[in-house]
Amino acid sequence: SYLDRVAAVDGDIHAFLHVDADAALEQARAVDARRAEGAELGPLAGVPIAHKDVFTTRDMPTTAASRILEGWRPPYDATVTERLRAAGLVILGKTNMDEFAMGSSTENSAFGPTANPWDVSRIPGGSSGGSSAAVAAFEAPLATGTDTGGSIRQPAAVCGLVGAKPTYGGSSRYGLIAFASSLDTPGPFARNVLDAALLHEAFSGHDPRDSTSIDAPVPPVVEAARRGDVDGLRVGIVREFAGEGYQTGVLQRFTEAVEVLESLGAKVVEVSCPSFRSALAAYYLIAPSECSSNLARFDAMRYGLRSGDDGTRSAEEVMALTRAEGFGPEVKRRIILGTYALSSGYYDAYYGSAQQVRTLIKRDFDAAFEHVDVLVSPTTPTTAFPLGERVDDPMAMYLADLCTIPANLAGNAALSVPCGLAPEDGLPVGLQIMAPVLADDRTYRVGAALET
Ligand code: GLN
Repeated sequence: SYLDRVAAVDGDIHAFLHVDADAALEQARAVDARRAEGAELGPLAGVPIAHKDVFTTRDMPTTAASRILEGWRPPYDATVTERLRAAGLVILGKTNMDEFAMGSSTENSAFGPTANPWDVSRIPGGSSGGSSAAVAAFEAPLATGTDTGGSIRQPAAVCGLVGAKPTYGGSSRYGLIAFASSLDTPGPFARNVLDAALLHEAFSGHDPRDSTSIDAPVPPVVEAARRGDVDGLRVGIVREFAGEGYQTGVLQRFTEAVEVLESLGAKVVEVSCPSFRSALAAYYLIAPSECSSNLARFDAMRYGLRSGDDGTRSAEEVMALTRAEGFGPEVKRRIILGTYALSSGYYDAYYGSAQQVRTLIKRDFDAAFEHVDVLVSPTTPTTAFPLGERVDDPMAMYLADLCTIPANLAGNAALSVPCGLAPEDGLPVGLQIMAPVLADDRTYRVGAALET
């Protein structure tokens, strides 16, 4: 029935870049067969899932929504892919995204934008906008995403879904096409907190093939999602996340959600994290710097596209032609920004000071978590904006991640849950819950409490 739904609506939504109905049915039958044999299957066995096209899949193309990888078939599965299969999840196909996960609206895909199912003239968020749209349009009950600066929480918020950015290192980056390696974090999308927790648990945990993977048990997110109480929990409101640039209806729904938490027995206090004001600036130096290094591997020799290789041109000329043709404008902007920030003479002024700001943000979190168990904020300053509105204005686009970026820079756990519709436009608003490193379960506890 999910495949039928995809066939019926994906022409309007464009959540998927690739759907393999036959392979999906085959996977589903294999799960049925194992069940018939009496095999003990996990809670997600047989459940369909939409998989972000940034994870390698050996039986499907993997493009990261870039021309430079068009037609590439990876020879291996990402750890996340492997674990989805092991859990018996049925992969319906690969979802659209901003090219190499750079963006907040899915308009930077080389293969055309995705629409928000709540209002098809609006963005589904990004970079995991194909995944959020697929779940919001009932094309899949679950989806995977990656969050480098907000790319799970922001699309979850603007599509009315639950989306988690696990603790950095809590989910494996092996086989995830790298954008900014010190920030990239795979995570789940679902329509409710418990489903998100089940998926989170299914693909997280230590992976020796990822050098930054944490060798610790997965936080008890499922148990926390089932528990869902906040009695006595100390909740901090980040003072810096309000004011100019925030939509009235977003702040209104946020305030109401905080009141609900208070009525459920949480102790709410205001906290100040002054360095969060510099988070966006630091992120847009660190992420492009890492991307400029990571994307050097697309050299026209190893993967996908190769342009102008007619036997007369040098390797350097073929590389230049391929990269000029294969990368979109946002990817080029970031490579140029990153190589500039890392160049000798500018390194200390840009990359070096951005790293110092990163440390200050971490200290702000540490100081706040001495007094509170979780921090809350709106997930995004506004609801879904119209397609096309910010494509020519990178600064306006970058503001969509104002509230989500600090948790990436510090590496801690964060979750976005729906908290109603903004009265002025009837579109979903998200509440962000942030917790210390490896305290992911706290975010699920609070999210589940708000659901009931
Ligand atoms: N929107 C942010 C960016 O463009 C975050 C993207 C992400 O989390 N992958 O970099």
